[in-house]
Amino acid sequence: MTISFTYQGSPARIVFGNGASAAVGKWVEALECRRALVLSTPQQAADADAMAQRLGALSVGTFTDATMHTPVEVTERAVGRAAELGADCVVSLGGGSTTGLGKAMAYRTDIPQIVVPTTYAGSEVTPILGQTENGAKTTLRSPKVTPEIVVYDPQLTLGLPVGMSVTSGLNAIAHAAEGLYASDRNPITSMMSVEGMRALKEALPTIVNSPRDGAARETALYGAWLCGTVLGQVAMSLHHKICHTLGGSFDTPHAETHSIMLPHTIGFNAAAIPELMKPISEIFGGSPGQALYDFARSIGSPMALKDFGLSEADLDRAAEIATKNPYSNPRPIDRGSIRALLQDAWSGHRPPY
Ligand code: NAD
Repeated sequence: MTISFTYQGSPARIVFGNGASAAVGKWVEALECRRALVLSTPQQAADADAMAQRLGALSVGTFTDATMHTPVEVTERAVGRAAELGADCVVSLGGGSTTGLGKAMAYRTDIPQIVVPTTYAGSEVTPILGQTENGAKTTLRSPKVTPEIVVYDPQLTLGLPVGMSVTSGLNAIAHAAEGLYASDRNPITSMMSVEGMRALKEALPTIVNSPRDGAARETALYGAWLCGTVLGQVAMSLHHKICHTLGGSFDTPHAETHSIMLPHTIGFNAAAIPELMKPISEIFGGSPGQALYDFARSIGSPMALKDFGLSEADLDRAAEIATKNPYSNPRPIDRGSIRALLQDAWSGHRPPY
């Protein structure tokens, strides 16, 4: 066997532990900052206020208009508010939408970021920024957008609604699953993929039955960190391409789309690379696509694209867009095979592999 790889770790500092968010002030100071602007969505504005209160003199206020898909117009307003208040860092408190806003601000102004994630999306540990302008979504990769410090506090996820916990957790598993066959994978990312999926497989069923189970929340967030790190370090393939297409061109919801597509895309690819997909069978039990399908169904995930406003006629165009500028993929793709895969996901059928 030949061993050959390139490995580049992330420079970000990761702080993990129950209660860790109480010490965000210490991390503001570690960045040599004194004037933090706390970011959130409108839904988490009260939490952002509480964070700003806790930071006391280290905070200059909040900006609570973070929005899904990071509209440029919102970023421009946030950058304006940061300048007005003389902010010297941001504390992004929330899921991928809030993290996206902080990253978009850093991309424009280099403002340092501390992220306090409250979902399992994983954006906080990637150099990837997706933004929308005039209805079009574009994605870029830049070291400028990678947050400097991430503070994972599982206690902040106790109230994440069960439905969102499920879809966000499956979104994280998708990063790890595609990481297993990434052309630029390395031994560290493969280990992280396996450990991350194992953690989420263990934790999500417990969270569904007992959403405030502290140990399960801890395990799930730990898994989310691992899976997000894989997303940040290696290239994604067919699964992320299709989800990007559906979200970008048909406005399907982010985490739900990942959850529905996952068994279909992974099953499709597993047929070509059974050896690389063995960990999925070992963790979830069964052939990769069917095992992921059964797991998703058992934890109450949405299973069919047709439930999210996508018409059957849209599938032709989705297959066309998804195969136009494809990401590299371990199994060759063509419009017909992707159309068939989308049909199964649209109907909610158990995949054939
Ligand atoms: P989100 O951030 O949009 O959150 C969804 C809703 O849940 C929001 O209203 C939010 O305020 C609320 N919420 C979050 N945490 C909560 C909690 N603990 N309790 C109660 N409510 C809570 O959802 P998301 O799935 O985390 O992020 C999706 C966005 O992130 C998409 O725009 C996606 O493109 C982006 N994303 C980017 C990357 C990347 O690397 N750039 C990776 C993953 C996702």
